[in-house]
Amino acid sequence: MTVVTRFAPSPTGRLHVGNIRTALHNWLLAKRQGGRFLLRIDDTDAERSREEHVEAIHADLAWLGLDYDAEERQSARFAIYEAAFERLIAAGRVYRCYETQQELDLKRKILLSRGLPPIYDRSALSLTEADHAERAAAGEHPHWRFLLDHDSPIAWQDGVRGAAHFDPRQMSDPVVRRADGSWLYMLPSVIDDIDMGVTDVLRGEDHVSNTATQVQMFTALGAQPPRFAHAALLTGSEGKLSKRLGALGVADLRESGIEPEAIIALLARLGTSDPVDPALDADDLAATFDLSRFGRAPARFDEAELDRVNVAVIHRLPFARVADRLPEGMTETAWEAIRPNLSRVAQAAEWWQVVTGPVTAPVADAETQAFLDEAAGVAATLDWSADPWSALTTALKDATGRKGKALFLPLRQALTGMDHGPDMKALLPLIGQDESVARLRAGAA
Ligand code: GLU
Repeated sequence: MTVVTRFAPSPTGRLHVGNIRTALHNWLLAKRQGGRFLLRIDDTDAERSREEHVEAIHADLAWLGLDYDAEERQSARFAIYEAAFERLIAAGRVYRCYETQQELDLKRKILLSRGLPPIYDRSALSLTEADHAERAAAGEHPHWRFLLDHDSPIAWQDGVRGAAHFDPRQMSDPVVRRADGSWLYMLPSVIDDIDMGVTDVLRGEDHVSNTATQVQMFTALGAQPPRFAHAALLTGSEGKLSKRLGALGVADLRESGIEPEAIIALLARLGTSDPVDPALDADDLAATFDLSRFGRAPARFDEAELDRVNVAVIHRLPFARVADRLPEGMTETAWEAIRPNLSRVAQAAEWWQVVTGPVTAPVADAETQAFLDEAAGVAATLDWSADPWSALTTALKDATGRKGKALFLPLRQALTGMDHGPDMKALLPLIGQDESVARLRAGAA
């Protein structure tokens, strides 16, 4: 059977690191198995869902390179939910309730004060048709609960957590539909997973108790539940669920100069004890993606680690991937010369400026000026097509007896205006002979 996974964001806000990780896990699993990855927009909540968030989700996934085989929208599927709901009514698996939030809160408090678990008491189950008719006549609309089967213990083999067991008697029948007819997330999600042939549901462990009730919904609708896996939650670097992490979105990361490859590489391994592989191609990560590598302990998302992975990624990025973000005229050779000095791609512009000039070198003392004057003379006679830096420094070493820092630093300063930077061997051909001679002369003046 072809593996089918899905990412099902609610378009009520921007994607954050945790959502992206869930999307990535599902994408990797589908890739690994040669399966299909679906994007499902969970927009049943018309009030909170926003088109701008749907667009941002598309843009974020595109930037991250998480392509999907098909996209579905829950808001286009209400007729399908209605039909499945009718079947559940006919089977007696959903029932009408009228308790207000206040009444439910009170019931819960009473149970808690007696030291009992706050489970819904199913009192609405004893209402007769006459009771319902009376409520309807009074203009009251019911909300609906799913009737858990108390005689079917809930169990599944979780891809991350191992054997999971729940006792339905210890759970409240979940509300699946509000009095205004709108859907809560649980039931439409199950109907869609069945309809779309989803074989594997990977999500965060905050969904474990939802899974427990959803397992029975699959069965009530005559379907085999999919495989489930619940990844441990992400925590901030301080070890807690941080507000910052919940808010940290793709746009923030992009603006701070983080490359999509770095996010993907880190999130693919976070929560496993495997080292982060700064792969440029997510397919390589998919090849080794294995749910059994994930642990149950919360995974720590550390921005400093993301930065390190980002640097490793940038030092490997080929010209073709960055060309449209580089300054006008910057060539592949220049990118390769400058790349090892970057921690952000945007910094390439600063080094390109060093190549193209003008540069401002520190004012040299008289002795250094004399040295630079000699250097300019040598540079003017060199064959620039064959490693001019080695030729220049060898000639100057022999002529002046200078070596090490005394030899290299004044040259670097006069030629680049900087004390450090990319390998001079790579820079000199880029700067060019005439310009190099001119800079050395300027340093000598
Ligand atoms: N829309 C739900 C959420 O974002 C989907 C959960 C799921 O089934 O994956 O939490």
